[in-house]
Amino acid sequence: MRIDVLTVLPGLFDCFLKEGVIGKAISSGKVEVKVHNIRDFTTDKHRVVDDVPYGGGPGMVLKPEPIFRAYDELTKEGEKPYVLLTEPWGEKFNQEMAVELSKKPRLMIICGRYEGVDERVKSLVDREVSIGDYVLTGGELPAMVIMDAVLRLIPGVLGNLESLRADSFSDRGLLGYPNYTRPAEFRGMKVPEVLLSGHHKKIESWRKEQSLRKTLERRPEIIENLKRKGLLTKEELE
Ligand code: SAM
Repeated sequence: MRIDVLTVLPGLFDCFLKEGVIGKAISSGKVEVKVHNIRDFTTDKHRVVDDVPYGGGPGMVLKPEPIFRAYDELTKEGEKPYVLLTEPWGEKFNQEMAVELSKKPRLMIICGRYEGVDERVKSLVDREVSIGDYVLTGGELPAMVIMDAVLRLIPGVLGNLESLRADSFSDRGLLGYPNYTRPAEFRGMKVPEVLLSGHHKKIESWRKEQSLRKTLERRPEIIENLKRKGLLTKEELE
């Protein structure tokens, strides 16, 4: 997969693209992420990327020309990207969308700033995406959130595929089970006996039960949805 990011603050991505699982996936060539400074696609002396809004009002708006120029330049060759624009009013990002996006060979993420992008930029965009009902100063953090969730789903990026299957929202959308590591007892708090038993079947069924219980407590609507679709076994319903 290749992802192109358009931003006016490329430096914000430096750590994200170097560290941890994502950093490793990039340095080993499993995925390709290119961050482009929208300013590099301006043609004026002062490299201006924003302007005042028509009709007046506070703040500045990202100009369309450098963004269109960046898009044209970056899509001259190869597969056309699926283009995302970060917007607080966009479609709410979730695991299902991450899975869908992870199957695209190429993505482009346009990061808004200031009051947002000129509306005409939307003619380039396949999907406007929000990471939640709050307003950030720019689309860079949302772009990193989206990339992190998407890239870890690319085969080979995570060392252990099992961890993908055990994560929240993966098995039918259920929440994950609780985890423990050594020591077996810490400050009077004990690891559940079953996890020390070495009995794989029992451990699996304990984890499944915990996962169902947590989902029922914290996200009952997920359980209701699975019931409606007939996706819970008789045992699980009990
Ligand atoms: N004028 C916009 C509005 O009325 O919602 C807010 C603009 S916000 C200050 C600047 C940029 O940050 C947005 O254009 C968008 O790219 C990004 N942004 C802020 N919050 C976001 C969120 N929750 N999800 C995705 N992007 C967000």
